[in-house]
Amino acid sequence: MPRVRFAPSPTGYLHVGSARTFIFNWLYARHNNGTMILRIDDTDLERNTEQSLQSIFEGLKWLGLDWDEQYRQSERLDRHQALAQSIFEKGLAYRDFTPASSDSTVGWLFNPGQREMSREESDRRAAAGEPFVLRFRVPRDTPETVRFTDAVYGEQSKLAADIEDFALLRSTGGPTYHLASCADDVDLNISHIIRGQDHLTNTFKHVLIFQAADFTPPQFAHLPLLVAPDGAKLSKRKHGPVVSVTTYRDAGFLPHAFINFISLLGWSPKDDRERLTRAEMVDVFSFEGINRSNAVINFTEESPFDAKSVWLNSDHIRTMSATDLAAELKPIVEAAGFSS
Ligand code: GLU
Repeated sequence: MPRVRFAPSPTGYLHVGSARTFIFNWLYARHNNGTMILRIDDTDLERNTEQSLQSIFEGLKWLGLDWDEQYRQSERLDRHQALAQSIFEKGLAYRDFTPASSDSTVGWLFNPGQREMSREESDRRAAAGEPFVLRFRVPRDTPETVRFTDAVYGEQSKLAADIEDFALLRSTGGPTYHLASCADDVDLNISHIIRGQDHLTNTFKHVLIFQAADFTPPQFAHLPLLVAPDGAKLSKRKHGPVVSVTTYRDAGFLPHAFINFISLLGWSPKDDRERLTRAEMVDVFSFEGINRSNAVINFTEESPFDAKSVWLNSDHIRTMSATDLAAELKPIVEAAGFSS
């Protein structure tokens, strides 16, 4: 049975792109009788906020889609450390004592002086309290290629020699995203990783970590980017509230109409139907229907909601039973000061 996870970082409000990742994971899990996991990626202490965490839960609550298991990465730091330690013990990682400020050289792949340091010297310097970053020892001696098959983007390969010796542990001792994410994917026995296309290039590093952990890499399905009408990646800074899920809620969208609209961004069922009930979506969802090109949300200054989202919303309202419609309207009527 598939085990999938939605892994938001609590560093902003629930973005429509994140909502789509959640919805696709949910649809895949429910279509295949799998397990849906919510994992809060909260190891970046400097960027996490409690307010963001609340807004993620608020957005998810409005969508009304459930999950079966829930974790917080910050409660699993010992597991991340354990994986880093085991990779280090296997000789597949090394300590890099280079001071952080000299780390950012353009085109940097690795620093031979650090990579080739003897274990004795490395242990001695670590024991003396010298700070270090733990780096993955990317195989470079043989022309090794890192490969994976993406359910959406197809065969992917990259020469290992072109991948930098990326960090597993920061100089603070905390895990990087790559380490924490893979350690949890291993531990939670994740079978399919469904996430945004912006993570496609990270996946080569993740495959190396999974191999070092003796874990068969999950199947990957990366989702096309959501973009604004001018082709720019949707961002809070540039596009404002239109990228926040709660904007749709506050404008009076039915949660399912929003889910229907969002799921058609980059995916379509074989028969190209547009209005689908929740049960119909679960029934027909598959990776084959996901396409590779960026999906555009059409909004303008004057009309912040894509015409299709408005049309789907009105169509769902029209086909609702009077009882369901009354239940949807009740809180709105009450909020306006009328009692029912
Ligand atoms: N926390 C990461 C993000 O929000 C998760 C990426 C992943 O699914 O591995 O982008």
